Amino acid sequence: MALVDRLLLGPGPSNAYPEATSALAAPLLGHLDPEFLRILDETCDRLRTVWGTDNARTLPLSGTGSIGMEAGFANFVQPGSVAVIAVNGLFGERMVDVAGRYGAEVVRVDHDWGQPVDVARVLAAHGSPDLVAAVHAETSTGARSDIGALARAVHERDSNALVLADCVTSLAGIEVAADEWGIDIGYSGTQKCVGVAPGLAPFTVSERAWQRRVPNPPTWYLDLGMIGDYVTGADGGGRTYHHTAPVAMIASLHAALGRIVEEGLPEVYARHAAAGARLQEGLTELGLELFAEEGYRLPELTTVWVPDGVSSAEVRGVLLDDYGIEIGAGVGKFASTVWRIGLMGHNARLDRVELILAALRRVLG
Ligand code: PLP
Repeated sequence: MALVDRLLLGPGPSNAYPEATSALAAPLLGHLDPEFLRILDETCDRLRTVWGTDNARTLPLSGTGSIGMEAGFANFVQPGSVAVIAVNGLFGERMVDVAGRYGAEVVRVDHDWGQPVDVARVLAAHGSPDLVAAVHAETSTGARSDIGALARAVHERDSNALVLADCVTSLAGIEVAADEWGIDIGYSGTQKCVGVAPGLAPFTVSERAWQRRVPNPPTWYLDLGMIGDYVTGADGGGRTYHHTAPVAMIASLHAALGRIVEEGLPEVYARHAAAGARLQEGLTELGLELFAEEGYRLPELTTVWVPDGVSSAEVRGVLLDDYGIEIGAGVGKFASTVWRIGLMGHNARLDRVELILAALRRVLG
């Protein structure tokens, strides 16, 4: 198979940090080898740093971001639970689907796509929900929501409700402060700002949520109690095998997180902010119009209207074939009218921005 090298400036996967790619070439270790367990423990420590949490249950789940979503609902809702879900794009919509499959009585709060989550409307949707869920960075629209304000408002009104946040496109790109904000359950994916290939879902659970998890969830693979007995060790006991840990992926995540922590989280966020701002400024200079609501635009994922009379697919094809650059189409009813341009992790750099702007300038002529 020919190796093709692309600049991945779509909604993810993004090009991995070089440290993450090199780590994939290291010799495999057994999943119970003490050296691997040291790497796993350190990975969980590093995940605590990027999540902004002291949660003991902070770990990489085996699978992509959607596994995090699935584990979040499977372990924290059951038939009869009321789950209020903010829907302002595709991934809020997916939460509704997943929560319903695990028996939750879902109260959905719809928003126009491109808008942030409206905290007051979510709060007003139900007086005493068991769980309130929202997406921090909606990859389908490029909008950022204030999860801190949402979680604070939920907890101030009702000490029982758990807050579940999708941080797939936010973790290690923009600030996530799980403890300070009051996120009870958070999940992410490795292929975006975390800068690793797709395949793991960084996950964190607060102590109070852990105490309230569904005791015998209708999924064996995603039973957090059983997974926790391997990853973090059983309460008062040692580690027990659950499923074979994807050791190479965890070594790769360990390396990427090492790089992120070494660079410093404020510096990583500043790098994403600077790249996103320059891209959005440059697209505007090209005469293009941004899609997501001003003031709520993500630096790591920019959405922009396709100009009138231009074929979205044709431009994306030329960018891929002639320039080796991938950008994303829009989603749903915006599939052919919006482009999505990602600057995530290793790609959150000004040189990448100037490349895509120069290519677009030429292609749009
Ligand atoms: N949530 C958000 C916000 C996402 O952007 C994605 C993927 O793009 C997912 C969930 C699902 O993750 P995955 O496709 O890795 O399963």
